[in-house]
Amino acid sequence: MEVKQLRDQFKLRLAGVEDGNYCFTMVCDKQFFELAELTDLQDGCLDLRVDMIKTEKLVDVKCHFSGFVMAPCDRCLLPVNIPMEFEDRLIVKLVPTVEEGDNEDDDIWVMDENTYELDIFHFVYECIRLAMPLRIVHADDENGHSTCDPAVLAKLKELSADSAKQDHDPRWDALKNLKLDS
Ligand SMILES: [Zn+2]
Repeated sequence: MEVKQLRDQFKLRLAGVEDGNYCFTMVCDKQFFELAELTDLQDGCLDLRVDMIKTEKLVDVKCHFSGFVMAPCDRCLLPVNIPMEFEDRLIVKLVPTVEEGDNEDDDIWVMDENTYELDIFHFVYECIRLAMPLRIVHADDENGHSTCDPAVLAKLKELSADSAKQDHDPRWDALKNLKLDS
């Protein structure tokens, strides 16, 4: 899909649109993540359904996301498939004149009633960003063993064995004794 075409999907037209309920569907995939500079997301596919209720003074936008994203594991860096299903809501107040300080709330926007379109691109990628788990790591299998990249696990084990060894380095012990003696 062309960038402009992708981008335009997220612009909900308001001007000349009659009050009522509207439903739009779009897909947030790798191309979307790249455009939104969500650099942690390597791949994925989130179906987004937008239910928009437009009235004279208010636009109520409910976004329902479902699908999965792929992001690097905190432990082994191989991609982890993260299933996602969540909702977010944006309320837009339409006013004759937008005053300074009107737009201090992230989930309630204040816009001029003559606004041509409502661009939800940034809102959508912020929703995805905030819905990401804080810790991303491959799950354990049914036997409680990590499903991370075995090569990385082996290396981590080696490193931790090395650092454990250093804790009991006889040379350090000798140094400590020396200090105590003097
Ligand atoms: Zn892993």
